[in-house]
Formats: sequence, structure tokens, C-alpha cells
Amino acid sequence: AEWTVPEAGMFMWMTVITHSDGVPIVRIDASGEKGDSTTSPTHVLPNEFYTARLSVIARNRTIEGIRSMLPLEQRPGVISLLAGKPHSSTFPITSLNFTVRDPADPNSELPVQLSQEELELGLQYGPTVGIPALVDWFYGLQDVAHGRKVGEGWNISVGNGSQDLIYKAVTALVNPGDAVFVEAPVYAGVFPIFQTLGCEIIEIETDSRGICPASIRSALENWPTSKPKPKVLYTVPYGSNPTGTTATLERRLEILELARLHDFFILEDDPYHFLYYGSLPRPPSYFALERGQHEVGRVVRFDSLSKILSAGFRLGFVSGPEMIVQAMNNHTMASNLQPNSLSQVLALAVLSRWGYKGFMDHTTRVSQFYRQKRDVFQAAMEHHLAGIVEWVKPEAGMFMWFKLMVDAGDGTGDSNSVIRTTALERGVLALPGTVFYPNGRKSAYVRASFSQLDEEQVNEALKRLRVALLDIRT
Ligand code: PMP
Repeated sequence: AEWTVPEAGMFMWMTVITHSDGVPIVRIDASGEKGDSTTSPTHVLPNEFYTARLSVIARNRTIEGIRSMLPLEQRPGVISLLAGKPHSSTFPITSLNFTVRDPADPNSELPVQLSQEELELGLQYGPTVGIPALVDWFYGLQDVAHGRKVGEGWNISVGNGSQDLIYKAVTALVNPGDAVFVEAPVYAGVFPIFQTLGCEIIEIETDSRGICPASIRSALENWPTSKPKPKVLYTVPYGSNPTGTTATLERRLEILELARLHDFFILEDDPYHFLYYGSLPRPPSYFALERGQHEVGRVVRFDSLSKILSAGFRLGFVSGPEMIVQAMNNHTMASNLQPNSLSQVLALAVLSRWGYKGFMDHTTRVSQFYRQKRDVFQAAMEHHLAGIVEWVKPEAGMFMWFKLMVDAGDGTGDSNSVIRTTALERGVLALPGTVFYPNGRKSAYVRASFSQLDEEQVNEALKRLRVALLDIRT
């Protein structure tokens, strides 16, 4: 080889002169990746199915040379000259100790001291898909929670929050200007994703039983043959944000059947899965249900740790068909390289010490916490707002979605101005319903979050809202 001595940084750049063209031949294999389609059941959709459906941008993405070779560093006996990893002895943090709640007894705490190995992992660059032990923990969770096993043609990838992954999944599938199905009202955080791509957003109606399959049928009834049908449906299956409703089993099965018939993917965004506190048994997720269908591979599922471990960790993970997850990983390689290592190590330290049983105990307690908050809010609604607003009791999550029965004065019943001005002047802040509709339509609804307030604050807030609503009536 030939080289020049570097004067900064951590790399030696050399020309290998043993090859006639000066470039060594490197064979990249995908060792270290999870999911092996050779062992998949026959009804799992084949790779060509996805290749034909990836967006132009996903197909054009080039595979990044360094990151795609990183898994090879894990080969036993390999001495790596590969990545530009800073040496951990130059980092100022030398140890990390903290305490974590014991899920069996929330009043006691377990001390955690990160080992040097764990700390090093957390302070260092890591794999694009996430730290292997955490990714494995999530594979196990998908088996426990949804009955989905490794090796059935689907993969997991960790992201910086589920928002990061939803954005990447949409970019992997949708071309600029494409039509997309989005349930409405819906989590407003997805609008910028679809709007930036110039998508035509087809609103799919929801009611107290969740998303309405009839609305998809009617949208497709007169679909022009010259126009491509939507490739994705975005839906929040449990405790929808903003409505708090959960789709029934019947609705879910109908949606899965429609996805097969009309060839679209279901983007199942489920940050409130473990915050379900409804009185009926929890219906299975789309991800769980599709396993019993004619074909498997149309559900891309998003989980989030934000509501159960920490929102500041910015950790979520996607579970979906290998090809789609690979396209998302290629996006990660080009945008933010990987999910945050330190957050992953902290999450892993907690989850691996708890185990799945501890995790379920913890999430059950979290859901009960929000159930109590819901009950307090509901009682205060009855006390202060009965006859002025109407609502359906939420069964998961942290939002009350209610309809104003008084008119804001412009004859439309729109809550926008009364919430943004009259209520705010009275010292109470909530979100007008229009925010949750893609096309900014008027809405008499309001979303109130009950996650943070105690009983006294809730009563004060709703008292102020009552005054504001009575003000506009007079
Ligand atoms: N989807 C929905 C329905 C949400 O309500 C939120 C956050 N409020 C997100 C996604 C984003 O979650 P994360 O913190 O995991 O990015």
C-alpha cells in the first residue's frame, strides 16, 4: 500500500497497490441482520412485491459503504480498521449510576450501575438498526405482545422516536403527489410528513368504534382507473390521538381485508398500545391479526417508548416487512446514521433488568394511572360542562375529545376562535379540533389532555372553560 501520514483525525488513507486498478474488492454480506426469509411461511409476500412498491426515492438510495459493513466488526477474531470511532478514553463521562422503579413494588427502587462495557456502548457509535441486545429484547416483546416470531419475513429497526420511523416509512413507500389514506381526525404530527410530499390526503372517517372501513370502500368506489390507488393507510389503533377511541376487532379484520383487496399497506402507529384501559378485552393489533390472514406483510407497525419509559429518550421501533425496513435503514444511513446510543443503553438497562413480566407490570400500572386521570377529568366534565359539550369516554391514552354544543357566533360551530381567544383570555389552553384534520376543515371539537393535571387544576381549567363557553353564548 501507499499512504500519506495524516495530520488530524483518526484515519489512514492508503492505496492498495496489489490490485491492477488500485481498488480492493470487498464483498459485503448481510451477516448480523435479523429475519431470514428462507425459513418464512409460504404466504409471506416475496421481496419482488415490495421492490415494485417502494418509492422512487427509496429505490434510488445508495447503500452507505461504512455503515453497511459495520456488522462485520462483530465477527469473532476480526481486528477492525473500519470505522472512525472516537476512543472512549477521550470521553469525559467515566461512570453512570441511577435508580429505577421496581415494577413489582413501585415504592421501592433498584440501583443500577452501568458496567464499563454498557457505558462504552452508550457513548459510542452503534449499528444503524439499534444495539443488538435491545433489538433482540424488542423481538421478544413482539412475540409476547403480538405472537410474531423472528424469521417470518419481518424485521425491527430502532429509531429516534416513532415519529422518525413514520417519516422514514412514508418516504420509503410514497412518491410526491401520491394519494394516501389517513384516518381523520388524526395525530396532527403526520400532516407535515404527507404535506411535504405534496400528497393528496384522503380522509377516512372514524367513529366511536374506530376507523370506518365503509369510508375506504366509498373512497375507492369511483376511483379513476387512470389514477394509482393509495399505497398506504395511516391509523392509530388504540386510544387514537385525538379521539381516544380504539378500533374494534371487526373493524380491524375488515381493514386488513381491504388492504389485501386494494393493495395498500397499513401503517399501524401504536404509541398508546400499553396505555389501553378500556373495559372490554383489548383487541389484537393489526400486526398480530395479519399473521392469521391469507398473506402476511402488509402491516408496518410503530411502537414508542415515549409514553412508557421516557419521551426524552426519543426511542421507538418499527416492525415490518424486511424490504421496507431495509429501505428505512438506508434512509437512516443518509440522515441521522443511527438511533441515540445512550438512550438505547439506558432503556436496555431498565428493560433487561425488568424482563417482560416487569415491563407488563409497569405498563399496566401506567395505564391505570391514566385511567384514574381520565376518571377525574370525566367527573369534572360532568360537573362543569354537562349540556354545553358532548363526549365519548376514551379507552386508552391521555386525551378527552369533546364537541361544543354552543355556537361560537359564526354559525359554523367551529371551536377555533373560542378556544384560541375567549378560552385563552380566561386562562385555559386546549387544542381546537381543526388542527386534527388534514384539510383544515372547521370542527366543533376540542382536544384536552389530562395527563399532567391534578384534580384541583382540572376543576379550575374546566370552570374557566365553562365561563368562556357561556360568554360566547350570551
Ligand atoms: N404517533 C402518535 C399517535 C403520537 O401521539 C405521538 C406523540 N404524541 C407520536 C406518534 C410520536 O411519538 P414519539 O415520541 O415516539 O416520536
